[in-house]
Amino acid sequence: THENNTRITAFSDTMMEDADSHERLRAILKLAVDQMAFEIVYQPQNSIHDNSLVGVEALLRWKQDDGTYISPAIFVPLLEKMGVIYEVGLWVLRESCLQGKQWLDEGIPPFNIAVNVSAMQLLNENFPRDILETLSKTHFPPQLLELELTESCMIEDPSAAEDLMCDLAAIGVKVAIDDFGTGYSSLAYLERFSTMDKLKIDKAFVDMICTGKESAITNAIISMAKSLNLKAIAEGVENEEQLLYLKQHGCDQIQGYLISKPLSAVEMARFACLNNKEHPKVAVI
Ligand code: C2E
Ligand code: MG
Ligand code: MG
Ligand code: MG
Repeated sequence: THENNTRITAFSDTMMEDADSHERLRAILKLAVDQMAFEIVYQPQNSIHDNSLVGVEALLRWKQDDGTYISPAIFVPLLEKMGVIYEVGLWVLRESCLQGKQWLDEGIPPFNIAVNVSAMQLLNENFPRDILETLSKTHFPPQLLELELTESCMIEDPSAAEDLMCDLAAIGVKVAIDDFGTGYSSLAYLERFSTMDKLKIDKAFVDMICTGKESAITNAIISMAKSLNLKAIAEGVENEEQLLYLKQHGCDQIQGYLISKPLSAVEMARFACLNNKEHPKVAVI
């Protein structure tokens, strides 16, 4: 089923109002972690040139007993504070790889799976080993896995980040920089980490694209990606106008409600089949 984003916001706002409900939220979140009572949804990423599916982003969901969802923008920072983001992040990685392998086994043409990684996972020295182990246990091809890191990951501990980038390149997984341009950027890391693959233009910049107006930052990010030999993907693309603008300015891929909201695994498989021109009849579910 499709998500209801209005309900997500309404619920979390009231929950965060006072310290009391904040404590209650932490307590039920702790229970959810104990049982890994989370879900993952997948949002398509399409090529801007022919609208074909190139990848999906795995997004974490936490469903409440009443059927509403609390936004990861609220509970992921809590997981970080509770010191359990490493464990949950690894679960997301494993579930995504398992799902990706299942799609391949069903005969669905391959596409990348992007998984979000928080700074605390990146700085854990076991991370490269755990990625390798997850890939080998799930039999998911490393070249189809993409990790979404944020700028703050790179800045907090540049030498640790550099080591990790080398390890990731050796494993053969891709790296994308999420929410690009919204963090405490130091552009120096872009030249230093030449093994990156993609810059994700944040929705905040995409939102500024409207009739007859240039979005200077969007243009600059696309140019920067080009000169660094990276792909550029725009997040939060909601209308045709933004799509046209991004196409005219040389952006490579788009993700957003215009293409699709995040989907369940079953819906995603159906979407992948409908969006593949070369194999239209593969794995009809
Ligand atoms: P993000 O990684 O930047 O993910 C993109 C967010 O934009 C997602 O929100 C997605 O549902 C939303 N989005 C995509 N297209 C559109 C659109 O056209 N319009 C609008 N209004 N929104 C759109 P979501 O799923 O609520 O996730 C929020 C943030 O939570 C993510 O931002 C990411 O930073 C974090 N997050 C989600 N899953 C994980 C996870 O497994 N691990 C970690 N560490 N963080 C996660
Ligand atoms: Mg992301
Ligand atoms: Mg993002
Ligand atoms: Mg964002």
